[in-house]
Amino acid sequence: MKLLSIETDAKTSKNSKYGYLTGILYLAPYTVSGTNVCPMAEKAQCFKPCLYSAGHGAMNSVQQARINRTNFLYNDRQGFISQLLSEIRALDRKAFRLGLKAAVRLNGTSDVPWHTKPFGSIPQQIQHVCPDVMFYDYTKTHKAFSKLPSNYYVLWSYSSAPEYLAHGQPNDMNWSVVFDGALPKNFMGRKVIDGDKHDLRFLDPHAVVVGLKAKGKAKGSSSPLVVTT
Ligand code: SF4
Repeated sequence: MKLLSIETDAKTSKNSKYGYLTGILYLAPYTVSGTNVCPMAEKAQCFKPCLYSAGHGAMNSVQQARINRTNFLYNDRQGFISQLLSEIRALDRKAFRLGLKAAVRLNGTSDVPWHTKPFGSIPQQIQHVCPDVMFYDYTKTHKAFSKLPSNYYVLWSYSSAPEYLAHGQPNDMNWSVVFDGALPKNFMGRKVIDGDKHDLRFLDPHAVVVGLKAKGKAKGSSSPLVVTT
């Protein structure tokens, strides 16, 4: 079972135009596998839209593969970490052959602190052997990502759910916000940039809102994840 998906979605495929080959790890979000990999999902009210696309309905092979990966992580932590490190090193070699650098997003559909010891300190381990590999993620648990190694960039993902906002909004991180309608120039006192050009969030300027346009079912949605403009 492969852990990393390489350029399998439209957005990360755009990253190669900016010099990066991107690998993403997709686990089964929230409690779909039986283990909760998204601690803030209930407070942010993000699990329903996520489950709708990732866990409801007929179990297809993509969903089953995400569950299998999550079970692998929780049933054989050392085996999982060892395979993940090996796949990231292979991604780095492939990127080099293509004249690119490697970027890795480990929380494609999860919210796990990969820089901590229980999850293998993956960015730190890779930094020793492949110093050019850059890690990035979006999180709803910003307090778990406050002390990061220099090769791991994380931004905070907005939801207007009051229980979620009660946990604070990090001033020292960029924020990602989904807008239904035109991107505003500013949001909550921060400049808004277009986040749909690529997914390489570590290239963004500091202290901005990364605006993402609502797509698919997010259009016209009353979800707290979506800001209507
Ligand atoms: S935290 Fe992210 S991956 Fe997890 S349920 Fe919410 S939107 Fe989905």
